[in-house]
Amino acid sequence: MNQAGSMIDPFGRAITYLRVSVTDRCDFRCVYCMAEDMHFLPKKDLLSLEELERLCAVFIDKGVRRLRLTGGEPLVRKNIMHLVRQLSRHLQTGALDELTLTTNGSQLARFAAELADCGVRRINVSLDTLDAEKFRAITRWGVFDKVMQGIEAAQAAGLKIKLNTVALKGFNEDEIPEMLRWAHGRGMDMTVIETMPMGEIDADRTDQYLPLSELRARLERQFTLTDIPYKTGGPARYVEVAETGGRLGFITPLTHNFCESCNRVRLTCTGTLYMCLGQEDAADLRAPLRSSEGNGLVSNAIDEAIGRKPKGHDFIIDRTTKRPAVSRHMSVTGG
Ligand code: SAM
Repeated sequence: MNQAGSMIDPFGRAITYLRVSVTDRCDFRCVYCMAEDMHFLPKKDLLSLEELERLCAVFIDKGVRRLRLTGGEPLVRKNIMHLVRQLSRHLQTGALDELTLTTNGSQLARFAAELADCGVRRINVSLDTLDAEKFRAITRWGVFDKVMQGIEAAQAAGLKIKLNTVALKGFNEDEIPEMLRWAHGRGMDMTVIETMPMGEIDADRTDQYLPLSELRARLERQFTLTDIPYKTGGPARYVEVAETGGRLGFITPLTHNFCESCNRVRLTCTGTLYMCLGQEDAADLRAPLRSSEGNGLVSNAIDEAIGRKPKGHDFIIDRTTKRPAVSRHMSVTGG
């Protein structure tokens, strides 16, 4: 087994953050994320929860300090709390600094208390509007009230919430100030995200894309935004909003590439490791995991993969670039 803390990529970046997409399935069909008629992976291709846990443990042994479960919707994976509970043991030993998840909130009312009990301290909840009808339209299948109940349950359980909002032209751009006041008024940070060209969807991404430089300029007409060095380990750059006293993050993969400080890799539910969200290159960890009871083979496969982590992605959204930058949907690698 390699020594802890040994994952350094060719650009000198230490890989300390693993995001795990535990399922590609979701109970929503957000229009910028998925096509309505999605084909999901056959169940037989999925790693079992035990295999996922074993892979995570190898990464933790190799220096991962933060682990985020995502998807698809992580809380729709059957028995997901078993995995959370198993992973929480690494919090107790001090091997892991943080175990967290990104969720659409639909199942939070059921799971919030148990998540908190497992040592999860903060979670990201994705929410693009506060209008129940618009919510239905953007998620296609989501029920707004369920998400609100989920958020309440999470806060009642003591989980800190950050709202993730994809900024969508003509959809929620005028609503962001209200969402900001709403989130900050309830003690939640908020992050806005540029839509990324991942996977074929039913709509034209050029129509959805709102550069955050434009959104920020508009917000500055109503709010005093001060850049702050606050970091959560992710790619967001934060400002403090004087009028609300809360923090607002900007994730700008298109207008400002954030790759230079990338510290992460992404594992899918089939054991495929993506070294970059925006590139096709990947490494299969399922075969080395299954071919031996020891972890040496899989550890070597991880080292080999980290050794070819690319410098960054090159997302572009414009009318001449019709194809997505990567063919897989965000739901495969997790947001
Ligand atoms: N189901 C969970 C959720 O809703 O948070 C986790 C997975 S979801 C794919 C993670 C995040 O990716 C969500 O905030 C979603 O809005 C965002 N997302 C999906 N497709 C995107 C895209 N093409 N560009 C930017 N963000 C995207």
